[in-house]
Amino acid sequence: MRTIAVIPAGGAGRRLGATIAKQFIELYAQPILAHTLRVFQNTAVIDEIIVVVPEEDIISVRERIIGAYALSKVTTVVAGGRERQDSVRCGLHAIAAPCDYVVIHDGVRPFVTMAMIERCLAAAMETGAACAGVRAKDTVKEADIDHTVTATLERHRLWLAQTPQVFALDLIRKAHDVALQDQYVGTDDASLAERIGVSVRMVDGADANIKITTQEDLAMAEAFMNQKQARPVHLRTGLGYDSHRFAAGRKLILGGVEIPFELGLQGHSDADALIHAMCDALLGAAGLGDIGRHFPDTDPAYKNISSLVLLARVKQLLSDAGLAATHIDATVMMEKPKLAPHAAAMADNIARVLAVPVACISIKAKTNEGMGFVGQMEGVAVWAVANVTTKEKE
Ligand code: MG
Repeated sequence: MRTIAVIPAGGAGRRLGATIAKQFIELYAQPILAHTLRVFQNTAVIDEIIVVVPEEDIISVRERIIGAYALSKVTTVVAGGRERQDSVRCGLHAIAAPCDYVVIHDGVRPFVTMAMIERCLAAAMETGAACAGVRAKDTVKEADIDHTVTATLERHRLWLAQTPQVFALDLIRKAHDVALQDQYVGTDDASLAERIGVSVRMVDGADANIKITTQEDLAMAEAFMNQKQARPVHLRTGLGYDSHRFAAGRKLILGGVEIPFELGLQGHSDADALIHAMCDALLGAAGLGDIGRHFPDTDPAYKNISSLVLLARVKQLLSDAGLAATHIDATVMMEKPKLAPHAAAMADNIARVLAVPVACISIKAKTNEGMGFVGQMEGVAVWAVANVTTKEKE
């Protein structure tokens, strides 16, 4: 079975009063869309992700979000249409076979969880169509244009629809095609399916699964994030070390940043000793061995590979073990060149891959005062200490 997520992220962010597009607005130092996509990236039942954005944003979304956060399941970024419904239709048409189920989710709902996606998919596999939602807590009144109540609806039957909404592919394509023919615009995808007689099953979403469209929503989202960060956690610490020899004709890459210098570092991958030491510290904290065990330098798959990709895999290994990185401190011992001008860019790269605030990545540099292999410019050595904590279940 193959399941593809379609994520419309097309809003211009006007209601947020921002000049940048909504999908780039940051929550905890990362674009909202990156938070959302990461949940889908980490959900095992999702095979592939299609992101739909305004045409003018395709390149920047690819670079600043998909590439920067190593979201490897995103195979396609397509241009959307005028309305959300048009954008979803564009996403549905971009799906290449084979695909059995489509998970449609708003790019600006970053608090979706893996469990929620799985629940909706399981329900759709029984019925063909499922919709996340929460039960109405307030009494709902229907009123005229002059605010006169025409009905009080039966609250126990009322749900407020959210996304994810999950459908069998043929069914939702048909629902969208019919809506287009009839020039019908619905406020969600389930309503298009309902119109053609499909029965849609409601599934528990969550109150926290908000759609961030106003400044108030953003403030609430930040409060949720603060609360999550403040929960008690079990802390573990790991130590990592790596060294690489200087070599002519190689690039000098540290922290995923290419540093202009006459010498580079020798190694099977890109020889990024900083990332390697950090990976070892993280794996050590998780009790998962070391980098050599997971990415052997005899494996041609890792030849000249960007070590940021290895870091993303280490993050996944931790995640599979129910752990997440919270803080890393590293000292790079290198006689020349100066590291300080590049430290911020390095921390940025690492923070993005690990999905932690950039303040949680500390990179310091030291010379070795001319002593030993570092001092004699034979190579570079890096020490790193990482803290990891048990991850949130939901
Ligand atoms: Mg190494």
